[in-house]
This record gives sequence, C-alpha cells and structure tokens, in this order.
Amino acid sequence: MYVVQIASECAPVIKAGGLGDVVYGLSTELESRGNCVELILPKYDCMRYDHVWGLHDAYKDLWVPWYDGKIHCSVYCGWVHGRVCFFIEPHSEDNFFNRGCYYGCDDDNMRFAFFSRAALEFLLQSNKRPDIIHCHDWQTGLIPVMLYEIYKYHGMGNQRVCYTIHNFKHQGMGGAEILQATGLNRENYYFQYDKLRDNFNPFAINFMKGGIVYSNAVNTVSPHHAWEAHYTDVGCGLSHTIDLHQDKYRGILNGIDDNFWNPQTDRYIAEPYSIDNIDAKAKNKQALRKRLLLQEVDKPIVAYIGRLDGQKGVELVHHSIYHALYKNAQYVLLGSATGAKINAQFQHEKNFLNDNPDVHLELGFDEELAHLIYAGADMIVVPSNYEPCGLTQMIGLKYGTVPIVRAVGGLVNTVFDRDYDLDKPAEKRNGYVFNDMDYHAVEFAMERALWLWHNEKDEFRMLVKQGMDYDYSWNHPASDYLGIYESIREE
Ligand code: ADP
Repeated sequence: MYVVQIASECAPVIKAGGLGDVVYGLSTELESRGNCVELILPKYDCMRYDHVWGLHDAYKDLWVPWYDGKIHCSVYCGWVHGRVCFFIEPHSEDNFFNRGCYYGCDDDNMRFAFFSRAALEFLLQSNKRPDIIHCHDWQTGLIPVMLYEIYKYHGMGNQRVCYTIHNFKHQGMGGAEILQATGLNRENYYFQYDKLRDNFNPFAINFMKGGIVYSNAVNTVSPHHAWEAHYTDVGCGLSHTIDLHQDKYRGILNGIDDNFWNPQTDRYIAEPYSIDNIDAKAKNKQALRKRLLLQEVDKPIVAYIGRLDGQKGVELVHHSIYHALYKNAQYVLLGSATGAKINAQFQHEKNFLNDNPDVHLELGFDEELAHLIYAGADMIVVPSNYEPCGLTQMIGLKYGTVPIVRAVGGLVNTVFDRDYDLDKPAEKRNGYVFNDMDYHAVEFAMERALWLWHNEKDEFRMLVKQGMDYDYSWNHPASDYLGIYESIREE
C-alpha cells in the first residue's frame, strides 16, 4: 500500500512530544512490512537538521493557492533515519516556519492551514496518488476537508483519509478568513454545525472537527481515551461530533519504536542491558548520578520526564519530588514548561533544591538525557490530569523502570497495579496506579512502590521483569492501522 503521512512533527528531526515519536515509529513499522511510506512535513528553521540525511531541493516550483494569489514554495527531500520525508518551505513574507519554534505563534492556525493546503497541492502537482493519506492532530484537520471539497475534483478522487487525534485539547480554530485563505470560501456552507462550525463558538470554524467530519476513519491513541473523549468532558466539546461519527471512530494504542527505545542497543545510555541481564541497569544508575551530581547511596531514583503543563498534573509532579525525598528516595526531573508561570515555579524549585545531593531538576528538552534517565531510574511517575496514550510509561516499562501512574487514558490500557488490579494475573501486573487527582493518592502509590524497593528487593526485581516483558512495540498497533487502511480503501 502507498501511504503518505502528513504531520507537524516527526521524531527525531521535529519533536515536541509524543506525536513526533508516533509519526516516525508507525511509518517505520509500516515500511518494514512492505508498504511504501512517505512523509510530508513543514521545513522549520529550528528542526534538527543533523537528523536528516541527503537533504536536497526536490521540487523548486510549487505554487500554492492562498487567498486570491499563490505562494511560491520549495519542497526539500531527505531521509530521516531511513524514512523519506518531504519538507515544505514557503517563500513569503509570512515566514510561516522560520520562527525559531514549532508552535506557539499567534497565527498558528494560519501557519498550519497553509501547510495543509501546500501538502495537498504538492501531492497534486507531483502526481503522487497515495492509497491512504494519514493526517495527525488539529494541524492537518483541514486536509480531508480540502481533499473532498476541492482536490477530489482535480484527479484525487481515490485517496482515503485516516485521521488520528493525539490530543483533543488543541483543536485549531479560526474565523472566515481561514476559509478565504485556503480557497474553501463558501462561508455559509462551512459555518454549519454538521460541517466545520465549532460546537460552542458560533463564530469559529474548528479544524479538528473538520478532520472528524470529513475523514474516512478517525481514531485517538488508546481505547480508554477513545471512550473518555466520547463520553466525558475530555472530548473538549467534540463528544457530540464523535457521537454522530461513532461508526468510523475508535482507539488504537500507540507503540514505541523498538530501535529507538531499546536498552540493548541504545547509544545514549552508559551500559546496554536486557531482561536477561538486568544487573547492568545499575551501571546506568551510576552514570546518571555522576552526570547529574547526585550522591551514590542505597536509594531508589524516582523520575519524571515530560512537558510541564496542566495536562501532565504539574501540582502532583511537584508534590512527588518532595514526597520522594521525604521517603528516602532520590528524584530526577526532566521537563519542559510551555507556560512562563510554570517555568518560573520550577526554576524557583530548582534553585531551592540546588544543593540537595538527592535531587536534580533539568528544565528544557534533552533527548539524550531522557534516554539515560529511563535507563538509570528505578521508577517513573506519570500523574497526568488526562493522557491520550502516554509514551513515558511504556518507555519506562521497556527500560525496567516501574511506572507509577494515574488511571486515565492510555495509562489505564498499559499499566496494571501490582497490588490491586484483580483483573490481571499477578505475573502480568507491571506498576502502580492511583485514581484521584490529589496528594494522598500519589503518595500512597509512591509509598507502595518505594516500600517494595526498600524491603522486598526480589519482588521489586520481579515487577521490573514483568514490565520489560510487555510488548508495546508497533507490532500490534501497525496491524490495527493497516486494518483501517484496508477497510477505507474499499469504500
Ligand atoms: P506528550 O503529551 O508530550 O505527547 P507522551 O508521553 O505521549 O507525551 O510523549 C512524550 C515524549 O516526549 C516521550 O518520548 C518523552 O521521552 C519525550 N519528552 C518529553 N519531555 C521531554 C524533555 N523535556 N526532554 C526530552 N524528551 C522529552
């Protein structure tokens, strides 16, 4: 099958979070099964060019309709760790992708509306006719809309769209100017509730809603989150739309890329190890302590890796630092704050704890350090407010780092409480789970994990092994996606 993935991220060249990992990992698995996979991405000035091989300008003359005129673009082609990627670079005063950041600009909706139009125009003009166009998140929500309302009439009538929602919180909104800019026009037509009109803001069109309405198949990234978005306020206003389109909607758990996340081959860690050789993990703990100037003592290391924002339960992350220290553990945090206030709070905490030899807070994004933390820590906390899938707990499991998670979204589908998950046989349990969004809940789960580490070393080791034994690779999810592709191709 010929599949084109269109997204705003692809790890490791463009990665702000899990979306990048998923786009790369899924593409790699699909390709390894004999499918032809290509990716279309924006060409950001700040992407990691050191991860692109053989970058060259493949199409110099792409003219993309925009308002009443056209914007001249170049399309670059290069290989990102084996995947063929096309990077679109617009030449206009808007400077859409030369902003020193991936997201966070006032005109993000325009930037990605343009990218969506440009990606389709590129397919059209370069005569690429994939069986499946796989779009991701709000940034590409307008692609199925434009495909079925415009490009279908220009020789792209056979293409089918699979639309994956990684986060319902960010949906992409805009006024009538988006319709004019993209050439969709017809305000009265699109500003209907069964089309793009936002369910709560009558003056806005909603990109993600467009993606749900127009795509042939829609999914989010875990079965439990699919249920939450359909039936609870986690759907952020789109529950009704999901309900109307429930026949084509489902949840597919993300995978993690076995080559990139593998303690046996990981080049960023100090010592390779596997389930048959867990003792070597201790060398990574040592290396982590050395790198972060933590003292060498007989204590477990609790870690947090992730964005620092409301979704991730920052209050509980913060509380878990002090609770770990109080309970005779060390703590390592690697986090990038998206908001200035949270950043200032953690910066303050970092200064305050600076001289404590049992804790290190690293603020910022550091891929290499993340690998060493997964390998060196004993436990990883994921106290999310909501979590569509969550990769850090799955990576933790793979690296023998016991997850302590809140029972939301994909965390429910991947972590099974050692003491209380009676639906799972004891040998299939792999971590600690708590329900409530309060201090007591996270404390109780952490205490159970820390108690086991301190008092029942063999039992803890067994739990580590049970976690490492899980297969959260792309093996299963890729089959699910191929099943979807096959079914919509026949429509
Ligand atoms: P998100 O909601 O951000 O997508 P996920 O758990 O799905 O969360 O994915 C997070 C991914 O980003 C993981 O690969 C994790 O290791 C990585 N990550 C998050 N924050 C950082 C950071 N500060 N430095 C390095 N990697 C990070």
